[in-house]
Amino acid sequence: MKNNKKAFEEACEFIAGGVDSPVRAFASVGSNPLFIKQGKGAYITDIEDNIYIDYVQSWGPLLFGHCDEDIEKACKKALKNGSSFGAPTLAETKLAKFILQDWEHLDKIRFVSSGTEATMSAIRLARGYTKKDKIIKFEGCYHGHSDSLLVSAGSGAATFNTPSSLGVLEDVAKNTLVAIYNDIDSVKNLVEKDTNIACIIIEPIAGNMGLVPAKIEFLQELRKICDQYEILLIFDEVMSGFRASYLGSFGINQIKADIVTFGKVIGGGMPAAAFAARAEIMDLLSPLGGVYQAGTLSGNPLAMAAGYANVKKARACENLYENLEKLGSRLMQGFKEAANECGIALQVNNIGSMFGFFFCENPVYNYQDALKSDTKLFAKFHTQMLSKGIYLAPSQFETGFICECMDKKIIDKTIQAAHESFKAL
Ligand SMILES: *Cc1c(COP(=O)(O)O)cnc(C)c1O
Repeated sequence: MKNNKKAFEEACEFIAGGVDSPVRAFASVGSNPLFIKQGKGAYITDIEDNIYIDYVQSWGPLLFGHCDEDIEKACKKALKNGSSFGAPTLAETKLAKFILQDWEHLDKIRFVSSGTEATMSAIRLARGYTKKDKIIKFEGCYHGHSDSLLVSAGSGAATFNTPSSLGVLEDVAKNTLVAIYNDIDSVKNLVEKDTNIACIIIEPIAGNMGLVPAKIEFLQELRKICDQYEILLIFDEVMSGFRASYLGSFGINQIKADIVTFGKVIGGGMPAAAFAARAEIMDLLSPLGGVYQAGTLSGNPLAMAAGYANVKKARACENLYENLEKLGSRLMQGFKEAANECGIALQVNNIGSMFGFFFCENPVYNYQDALKSDTKLFAKFHTQMLSKGIYLAPSQFETGFICECMDKKIIDKTIQAAHESFKAL
């Protein structure tokens, strides 16, 4: 079967919606998804043998592009010894030690298999530690698909306590309060009214409503509020960790959260994620403490090997994030100039290896701002770019990723494709 459309039709017969994660379906850009057979460095090849520059990079994990040799070697070596034991391995301690060495405020970590598990577990831990019930999240932030976090998760109106999904009970959603990103008063209003708040969870660099960095003063204020009201602050760095900078948001603003979640890059393309905090909090986890959390494949040897190879390389690579940020800036400035030349308003952001753009008139600081984007125009742009060999995330509300295999030539080719695409709109 060498046809993307046919492959999707067949997948739809056997897999719900034809995909194992909704945004892959290309529904929001009104086309069919590509079926990928191979990747190499900055490029992916679909089953029709079309080659694309890949700005999705598996939604973040592949900092060094597809089929990175070091990751491949590490995985092969690990696989030879067995794929899973459900018993401790040295690989887990090695990766834990390696990650924690740079975070003075994080003493211990626990590995899981997905970002969803990491944030879900972090929240249970925060509730266990504070013995309080409610959580605050921000409209437009995505923290995976566990029930209590599927509230105003990059969807719908700014209503409080409204589940983003069928099957999430109002009874669960009522314990999730929703504040406005970059708006400290919206947080103050909630914490002043309610003494039962266990934690505030935030993407300190939001990447799931498009790319919207938090203002530093806003994060500083959050830290203060949490200290004042004995609320735990959770930074969800599943995307931004090892992406915005090696140390994610912390590497940029040195603001210390009580619990930090990781994912994506720490698995190097294999399923691994983690949450970490100071010992006093982490020691509440079972078997030491009363907060239960577990996983058959947690700390899986292949995932640990791939993750270690990825973060080790990132840490050793001099000026990696500066160089990626330069490429990101070049790309976004190029997009903006090209759009403006064609009379199209475009807002752009980039930080480290992450970039994002919105088809709207004004700068985007929160989800409501992001929602002002012209998603129909985005869909047309996406289709245009795809036809020119540029693979962008199929939604206005996603972040793009630069990988280490990209260079000025690739970026300039992309800008040129964007210019032609804007003209065609
Ligand atoms: C991707 C992501 C998650 C969820 O991770 P999964 O591995 O897809 O479950 C959670 N939080 C943030 C910020 C993410 O970007």
